[in-house]
Amino acid sequence: MNWTRNVVIKSKEEIKIMRDAGRINFRTLQAVKEAIKPGISTGELDKIAETVIRDHGAEPVFLGYPGPTPYPATLTVCLNEEMVHGIPGKRILKEGDLVSVDCGTLYNGFVADSAFSAGAGEVSEEVQQLLEVTERALEIGISKMVSGNRIGDVGAAIQEYVSSFGYFVPQEYTGHGVGRQMHEGPQVPNYGTRGKGIELVEGMTIALEPMTLVGTIRTKVLADRWTVVSVDGSLTAHFEHSVAVTNGKPYVLTTE
Ligand code: MG
Ligand code: MG
Repeated sequence: MNWTRNVVIKSKEEIKIMRDAGRINFRTLQAVKEAIKPGISTGELDKIAETVIRDHGAEPVFLGYPGPTPYPATLTVCLNEEMVHGIPGKRILKEGDLVSVDCGTLYNGFVADSAFSAGAGEVSEEVQQLLEVTERALEIGISKMVSGNRIGDVGAAIQEYVSSFGYFVPQEYTGHGVGRQMHEGPQVPNYGTRGKGIELVEGMTIALEPMTLVGTIRTKVLADRWTVVSVDGSLTAHFEHSVAVTNGKPYVLTTE
């Protein structure tokens, strides 16, 4: 895709619809978050999500999404070294697992895209710190999403914060514009150079999604052709919000 050409500016009315989609997506992820505990399967989490989305008159965006094979589920659910695109199924969560859940909702023609990571039961201090750093990296990135700033300002702030803890951000997986399509321009890496890249303007809607890796910058895709893991098996985490750029404060769409 031509990321630069596919930047679509939304009207206030369109952003209102995206906010509705975002609220449904938030409620879906809240229901999943409440269900995360040792003993539940990743497939059961997926069922919960699909039910909440459909109960709101919305549709799961990931289900059937084109890729190496059409994506088979509502959520992506990743454990520990799995960073993104993990397929839910029979696996059972264990005490201490780091669980990353990503979800997309289509409502009235617009997509909301959001993700979080959380622990199943009690987690180690290492997991706890990674969760806190990654969530904070998202907040820091969002705070830079004001009109007049550039994509590089957002990525640089995320990368600097994450690397101050010795963690890594992947190079191949990035944030993106979101709207009628789940993936629109601009591409928004979690790294960058201040003052560089496309300028943010009012009406841009972006899914910002810092991913972090404890031990390496390198990832690989498993034989299922979807699941992305750290090459060294070290922990990873992922947080994401869909956010509208305004002439004032960034407007987070995927919240209550
Ligand atoms: Mg996502
Ligand atoms: Mg996304």
